[in-house]
Amino acid sequence: MDSRVEAFMSKIINSNPGEPEFHQAVEEVAESIIPFIEENPKYKHAKILERIAEPERIVMFRVPWLDDRGEIQINKGYRIEMNSAIGPYKGGLRFHPTVTLGVLKFLAFEQVFKNSLTTLPMGGGKGGSDFDPKGKTDNEVMKFCQSFMTELSRHIGPDTDIPAGDIGVGGREIGFMFGQYKRLRNEFTGVLTGKGREWGGSLIRPEATGYGCVYFAQAMLQTRRDTLADKTIAVSGSGNVSQYATEKATELGAKVVTLSDSAGYIYDPEGIDKEKLGWVMDLKNIRRGRIKEYAEKFGVDYYEGQRPWTVKCDIALPCATENEISAEDAETLVKNGCFLVSEGANMPSTQEAVEIYLKNKILYGPGKAANAGGVAVSGLEMTQNSMRLSWHREEIDQKLQQIMTDIHETCIKYGRENDGYINYVRGSNIGGFVKVADAMIAQGAV
Ligand code: NDP
Repeated sequence: MDSRVEAFMSKIINSNPGEPEFHQAVEEVAESIIPFIEENPKYKHAKILERIAEPERIVMFRVPWLDDRGEIQINKGYRIEMNSAIGPYKGGLRFHPTVTLGVLKFLAFEQVFKNSLTTLPMGGGKGGSDFDPKGKTDNEVMKFCQSFMTELSRHIGPDTDIPAGDIGVGGREIGFMFGQYKRLRNEFTGVLTGKGREWGGSLIRPEATGYGCVYFAQAMLQTRRDTLADKTIAVSGSGNVSQYATEKATELGAKVVTLSDSAGYIYDPEGIDKEKLGWVMDLKNIRRGRIKEYAEKFGVDYYEGQRPWTVKCDIALPCATENEISAEDAETLVKNGCFLVSEGANMPSTQEAVEIYLKNKILYGPGKAANAGGVAVSGLEMTQNSMRLSWHREEIDQKLQQIMTDIHETCIKYGRENDGYINYVRGSNIGGFVKVADAMIAQGAV
């Protein structure tokens, strides 16, 4: 590691102990940004990197709620307000038992760069709870969401901080939280995105992250005069992002052969077509079942406790969670002929896995660029709410495609290497950094 990065990271690790995911995310950015700052000393003098790695504000709170037996349950609630240099804090809420302060800080940090890349005026934030919606009744989820929002409502607002969904937070949870916010504040505002279509939500928002991830893959393929047609794709996860990545990839002529959840993955060599995907959506979004049931229903193989990266594929779309592709997985993917990774999830590849992609010069779209479509359409939802109108599906899809193309162009601008290889890691880090850094300098030491 570069000695300047090492010195910077040792300060970060000392002042943020026990937060390995946050250290990982900061280090990945520091490796791109520190050499850039050396060439552009105004950022060094203004201590932008040191400031950008320190959240503007963190709110932590108790979330008590009553389960269906009348027993009191207690969870932790968080909101990280990371950076508001270019707009109000914006970023999702995650409800999952693995949520910790460090995980949310890594996600909030990534969000700052991602939101900047979209070109829309949004700062970065993230929040959530260690609450697990799995196995809870709708009534229990509602009780939890109401209690969570009772505290969170003091800290957010349509011009201050606008949360959205993430793992474990979909349309149902956003609905319950929006209802409670409206009741407490007595106002109907666009304080959350990912709302239902009938009450302020944007068309294409549920699809946006998955579609955007595929549009980004398409843009990367175009640099090698290639397309998605007839490509074999391994997708991980089976939630929101995975479902719509599968839908769009299939629509564009590719064959998706895997889906997973935290218990294992299914391999369907025939491909997960529209009809089978419809069944998965019902399984995951309505019946809230396990992906194993797909294997039973369609007579394919299920691999308990494993991830899909040993399957032979041209393209991998990791869409489940952080650090789900290890160095060994990355080696296997490359050895099996995979030449493109587009990340629907946030930081799904370990740092060692990323090094393997770059060493082998495969097309690699990191999450902060490849999955920015979700927050981009959230930004469009905010615009529609402010204007009190709603755009058509085609119009939003077109804007989404344009934004993903623009992000891709930004990555090329800052990431092209001497031999022509596009290093999207450097491209997205520097591309996301410049706009926020310039705004921070203009606004003084705040
Ligand atoms: P969902 O909750 O809809 O789906 C998550 C999927 O990932 C489920 O299949 C889940 O399986 C699996 N998963 C979750 N945690 C783990 C784990 N620790 N190990 C293995 N599998 C796991 O979430 P989303 O689809 O919304 O989010 C997926 C990823 O995309 C996350 O990294 C998120 O941060 C990122 N993202 C999401 C955006 C959005 O708009 N929703 C925007 C940008 C990024 P199980 O059901 O068994 O838990």
